[in-house]
Amino acid sequence: MKREEFNYSGITSLALHKAQHKFANASHLTPIYATSTFTFNDADEGMRRFSGEEDGFIYSRWDNPTFIPAAEVIAALETFKIKDKDEKNLQVKAILYASGMAAISCLFQTNLKAGDAVLSHFSLYGGTHEYLHKVLAQNGIKPIIADLRDLNIAETAIKQNKNIRLVHLETPANPTIQCVDIEAITKLAKQYGLIVSVDNTFATPYLQQPFKYAVDFVVHSTTKFLNGHGTAIGGVLIGKDVGFMNTKATKWYRLLGGNSSPFDAFLLLNGIKTLELRMQRHCSNAEAVAVFLQRHKAVAHVNYNGLESHSDYAVAKKQMKHPGAMLSYELKGGLNAGKNFIDKLQMCTRAVSLGTADTLVSHPASMSHYGVSREERLQFGITDGLIRMSVGLENIEDILADLDNALN
Ligand SMILES: *Cc1c(COP(=O)(O)O)cnc(C)c1O
Repeated sequence: MKREEFNYSGITSLALHKAQHKFANASHLTPIYATSTFTFNDADEGMRRFSGEEDGFIYSRWDNPTFIPAAEVIAALETFKIKDKDEKNLQVKAILYASGMAAISCLFQTNLKAGDAVLSHFSLYGGTHEYLHKVLAQNGIKPIIADLRDLNIAETAIKQNKNIRLVHLETPANPTIQCVDIEAITKLAKQYGLIVSVDNTFATPYLQQPFKYAVDFVVHSTTKFLNGHGTAIGGVLIGKDVGFMNTKATKWYRLLGGNSSPFDAFLLLNGIKTLELRMQRHCSNAEAVAVFLQRHKAVAHVNYNGLESHSDYAVAKKQMKHPGAMLSYELKGGLNAGKNFIDKLQMCTRAVSLGTADTLVSHPASMSHYGVSREERLQFGITDGLIRMSVGLENIEDILADLDNALN
């Protein structure tokens, strides 16, 4: 049986075997093509490659053989077992970027022009929030931020702003772990003919597949759970309109110069192989941490989708396989208690970012959301003493012991 026809029952088999490319010398793993340019046998071959008449590589800002398997595996994971309207496997195209922000900026720049507006939920990744307000706004594209967990608010915003062309969701969102109902918002957006994109970084395709709904684009910071080991910065943009992805999106990718690197793509591809296994452990550890913190007398409040006390418990349950590996919490003593707690940790790592194998603990107000004004932060629920945790793969007893020691 040809591999192409193999009906994978789960995403680990797929992640391990989907990449079909054959490489020189029967190399088992994808080689790192550390080359900036590619050679032509003669002038005619160069011409044929440039004209698109012949497949082949030209220059690594355009494409590189190491990028392809990683992009294909991510596309396959995001569409695993999703059928299109003709009952065929949904076709999408993925492009690898140097960073999540490069993928996100390309998404906006290829879909929006001066005079357009973009609607998004509050509580976005700090960089995306700043990008919308500082870079897009300067290019004449208006960011409109609303609480998209409320469909009435979302519809009012769409009706009041005729220039909205794109709705960008990030769910679960940073760092309050708020969830937006992808299906409901997409349905609404489509009534008004809007493009919908979802930042699926926190969930990964293991937990959530936005393409199950009528979403047009999925974007990731592959730096996080997809790479999974904190070894490289990277991003990916996946689009359902393959024609658009192959023309405008590819053209802009090449011209804006936000390409991935062969080594980073190699690290990403290797990390993805264990995505399912890692996510299972990340998630079960996070659940235990959430329950532990919720019962702890030093903790005022825990934001975790798997707790019934979370405002978006039902939405998370509806669209995610499990509540995930991310949580945040507020200590009773506010800012000072939060800082003391972070300083007393002996095993968990003090760092921003998320999705690495070890547990990361950060303080959004002074770190990831430093660029967002205090007034805006508070509105989004990012209080001065809020602590965010990306729960890692350590033995759960050790994580709980470290937290308990730092809390007491
Ligand atoms: C980290 C992150 C980004 C930005 O990705 P980089 O790889 O750091 O550029 C965007 N969205 C979310 C949800 C993130 O966590």
